[in-house]
Amino acid sequence: MARKSKAPEERPAKVDLDAFMKKARKFMRPYRVSKGKNFRLKDIDPGETAGLGSEAKPRSKEALQNGVQALAQLQDMLYAQDRWSVLLIFQAMDAAGKDGVIKHVMSGVNPQGCQVASFKTPSVEDLDHDFLWRCNKQLPERGRIGIFNRSYYEDVLVVKVHPEFLGSAKIPPRLIGKDIWENRYRDIRSYERYLANNGVIVRKFFLHVSRAEQKRRFLERIENPDKNWKFSASDAKERAHWKEYMKAYEEMIRETSTEDSPWYVVPADNKWFTRVVVVAAVIEALDSLDLHYPEVGADKLRELAAAKKALLAE
Ligand code: AMP
Ligand code: MG
Repeated sequence: MARKSKAPEERPAKVDLDAFMKKARKFMRPYRVSKGKNFRLKDIDPGETAGLGSEAKPRSKEALQNGVQALAQLQDMLYAQDRWSVLLIFQAMDAAGKDGVIKHVMSGVNPQGCQVASFKTPSVEDLDHDFLWRCNKQLPERGRIGIFNRSYYEDVLVVKVHPEFLGSAKIPPRLIGKDIWENRYRDIRSYERYLANNGVIVRKFFLHVSRAEQKRRFLERIENPDKNWKFSASDAKERAHWKEYMKAYEEMIRETSTEDSPWYVVPADNKWFTRVVVVAAVIEALDSLDLHYPEVGADKLRELAAAKKALLAE
């Protein structure tokens, strides 16, 4: 433990967490789903900004900066304490802003205490295993924040929209019945319960972008040479399945939102708003843990004093 403890002057600058959370909570709470039963996607408008107009944009940048600083402070203790780990899962349609959120929200965090994994089309090796396997390998170590850019939830999203993918997943045909999705939701709930029981805090974010805003962002990617690399023709093809995706997202949220691992359905048409909501939710999650720097005991103090004496006597 002492291996990771720090002199107070090396610790990140302090932000008044209580004051920050008091303000941030009112932005973030409406989007948290911890009981999915009555959840309806149409109740959350992707264009929502909690009543704030674009004049709030500069203030939101300041709030994000405060949030990032608070996060750095909490993450430093998380790492030093080396007990809990935090898993943040991001799911969204293309161009909803996952990459930008990850970049901005984690910008103040010590890279040593943070790990990001992106899950794309499964490899041959991935398909030779159960659907949780590739994600389970990438879980954050204790003391760290792990980010999943997509996750095992793709297996109840893209795979549900394209059930033919189940074929390439080499699942024995007789296990591919009508109840396959129900089973997967249940397995995910149990898996996340298991993680919670082992000190892994799970928070899930669905960045909810509108179809019209996605079109605008795709066009920007096509027209702006610096953004061409972000565009792939297959992304545009998936747009044709928009309704099926929304249905799959809604069902996923209804079935896998729990008190321990809630979903945040974050309006994503305005990036400045999305980022503030996400940072606030992450801070609340960390703040709910009993984070503190490890205490230096009497034995350790004696050891330090002896070492100092020996060094000075050289
Ligand atoms: P991107 O994150 O935009 O680079 O895209 C990754 C692509 O991989 C997306 O189109 C996902 O839908 C796809 N993908 C991720 N997981 C799976 C999966 N389990 N089965 C099939 N496709 C997947
Ligand atoms: Mg893509």
